[in-house]
Amino acid sequence: MGCLQSPVWHLGLPAFLLVTATSVGFANGTSGSVAKRTLIVSSVDVSGGKPDADQVKALQAISDNAVKTGSRYYSRIISLLGAGKHPQAEKVTISFTYAYKGVAATGGDHMEVANDYALKRPNDIPGVIVHELAHVVQAYSKDTGYDTGWLTEGIADYVRWFNFEPKAKRPHPQLKRNPKATGSYQTTGAFLFWTVGKYDRNLVKKLNEAMYDGSYTPGIWKKLTGKTLEELNTEWVSTLSEPNKP
Ligand SMILES: [Zn+2]
Repeated sequence: MGCLQSPVWHLGLPAFLLVTATSVGFANGTSGSVAKRTLIVSSVDVSGGKPDADQVKALQAISDNAVKTGSRYYSRIISLLGAGKHPQAEKVTISFTYAYKGVAATGGDHMEVANDYALKRPNDIPGVIVHELAHVVQAYSKDTGYDTGWLTEGIADYVRWFNFEPKAKRPHPQLKRNPKATGSYQTTGAFLFWTVGKYDRNLVKKLNEAMYDGSYTPGIWKKLTGKTLEELNTEWVSTLSEPNKP
């Protein structure tokens, strides 16, 4: 397993920071260390919108803050996902834009964040950046042949909500909403958090590896925990019914 260090050099420009991720340890059992720097660049594009001066200023501050969040947590995300031995992005670009209308989306090493959303929910953006950076680190490019979108999003939200956001903000899936392990996003994130605590603290790293190399099959849950995904789901949902549990 990798050991990560993250010295950060500030170049004095608000939108440019360097992140260093050092990966140690290889699958073949030899040890070694490769230093890598990932440049995180964020920019604001106001074309196609009609922001006033205050909004432009706000977007710039949110963008600068996104780079700070990224530079601070990128290495931690690599570590959480056990991805230290995978090739990492040399440069991650973040674009705040009016062209994108959702919340945020990531393709490869590039992410787009919606200006409209950022202005409406500025305090949500650091967490959004962490979720999207998790996608950059995941870099799943091999088709497992199974429907795994729920797991991809669940892992990203596990990173965000259970390792970055304050504990008080953690999602608590409610029984009345009939939560399922495969419910994606926060619901799957909560399920993963519970499974990590109960069965295997390295579970997410192992799942990430299987998703990365394309070897994921639904049978992996039994292999890693002794229980099928369905059995785990039943057990997890039963914990949600205990009224004294947070
Ligand atoms: Zn996502």
